[in-house]
Amino acid sequence: MTNHSASAATRPLRVAIVGAGPAGVYAADILTKSSGVKDGDFEVSIDLFEAYPAPYGLIRYGVAPDHPRIKGIVNALHKVLDRGDIRFLGNVAYGRDLTLHDFRAFYDAVIFSTGAIRDADLDIPGIGMAGSYGGADFVSWYDGHPDVPREWPLEAREIAVIGNGNVALDVARMLVKHPEELLSTEIPDNVYQGLKSSPVTDVHVFGRRGPAQVKFTPLELRELSHMNDVDIVLYPEDFEFDEASDEAIRSNNQIKTMVNTLTNWLVEEHAEAEEPSSRRLHLHFLHSPVEIQDGGTGSVSGIKFERMQLDGTGNAKGTGEFVEYPVQAVYRAIGYHGSPLAELEYDAKRGVIPNEGGRVLDAAGAAVPGIYATGWIKRGPVGLIGHTKGDALETIGFLLEDRLTLPPAQNPDPQAIIDLLEERGVEYTTWEGWNRLDAHEAALGAAWTADGSSGVARERIKVVPREDMVRISRD
Ligand code: NAP
Repeated sequence: MTNHSASAATRPLRVAIVGAGPAGVYAADILTKSSGVKDGDFEVSIDLFEAYPAPYGLIRYGVAPDHPRIKGIVNALHKVLDRGDIRFLGNVAYGRDLTLHDFRAFYDAVIFSTGAIRDADLDIPGIGMAGSYGGADFVSWYDGHPDVPREWPLEAREIAVIGNGNVALDVARMLVKHPEELLSTEIPDNVYQGLKSSPVTDVHVFGRRGPAQVKFTPLELRELSHMNDVDIVLYPEDFEFDEASDEAIRSNNQIKTMVNTLTNWLVEEHAEAEEPSSRRLHLHFLHSPVEIQDGGTGSVSGIKFERMQLDGTGNAKGTGEFVEYPVQAVYRAIGYHGSPLAELEYDAKRGVIPNEGGRVLDAAGAAVPGIYATGWIKRGPVGLIGHTKGDALETIGFLLEDRLTLPPAQNPDPQAIIDLLEERGVEYTTWEGWNRLDAHEAALGAAWTADGSSGVARERIKVVPREDMVRISRD
């Protein structure tokens, strides 16, 4: 084997990016565009790794199927990867198929963009009971994630969703919406069938603070009123505003719009006596979860909250008054949390890789040469998809600053990593493979549309089992 350890100053800079969600693709795009224009002329050669057989991370496995506008971001990411100057290698898991040592051997720098996919913990009695679920797990199910069970227990008539962020809205909407309205989306058949069998009548969303402290965004909130045969129910006693709320309404247009929307719904609800819908979505504020209750059968029978009051600063404090709601399922949607990565430090509290502006730090707080992070694993699971662009700019900026002092790869030949994956029997997928799977999913949608019996046109139907995704990609 040739020793290629000459510095990256005399050959293309070899960079591995681990995680092909928006954060990873943006980083790859920005790095590619920086080469040759910044800091003199240099070439870059990027491999974009992904643990799933398909790219797009959170967009494929985190965005609700009835949000095609956000899914549209896929078109922009597709264009980047379709240029041909970034190599996609899917179905390769960091820590299982390749170690940090491997990455160091084949690349001058590694950027981790693995995101945050699991639910934050909620430490209250009963949280582990049957019928108590993580919202992120439910999202994985309805988005056809390859590694989660195909069946989801949808037996509850009354359901509590804890949290006042957009994920809580997604979870609540998917639970309460009549599934026929989802049929035109890319939802897999097992998800449609599962939702069809649900006996749900009431979904209650609980925020621990007030209407001016919600973390929703206006469009996602307003969307709730567009569902067929679902009434939105609000409670006047939940509408409390303190000084900080008034200031937030004055200074933040998004908050103002959302408070207006909620207040209008409250007024309309009490003014109109329309034909009641068969399902209801209740929005409660100032409820902090205390305990999930067991009906004696080991499964959820109710949930207990402490009523809260605002303390003047926009935070809430307990009133000592408790309320209970009969529900048969509880979904916590109180935020995502990143997962640790083999051989790297991990901040368990924040769920991130410790870093300074994207330069990954060791246990002593010193930058680890050649290792970077971007996206949610860098700064935590907050912000919209577009915000990860700013992250990527910062991380790539530091990588470029460090470019001439990076620990050089021992074997930067792009074929070497392919040889290693093959030697290890890793069934990696490629960009061409994704195009095949993409076309296959579109063809499933077209066949459905052509069949015509449902009267619904579908652009795509997702392939769910990992082995099918891999087989179709590698055919
Ligand atoms: P989030 O926006 O941070 O919301 C988390 C919610 O959980 C907050 O209301 C928070 O209340 C509440 N919470 C946290 N700990 C709690 C506890 N112990 N008890 C009760 N409530 C608790 O997180 P997210 O909903 O997971 O969303 C993550 C990011 O993805 C956000 O930036 C979101 O906008 C984005 N996203 C966007 C869309 C979209 O359609 N545009 C869809 C999904 C996600 P406090 O405020 O009181 O802490």
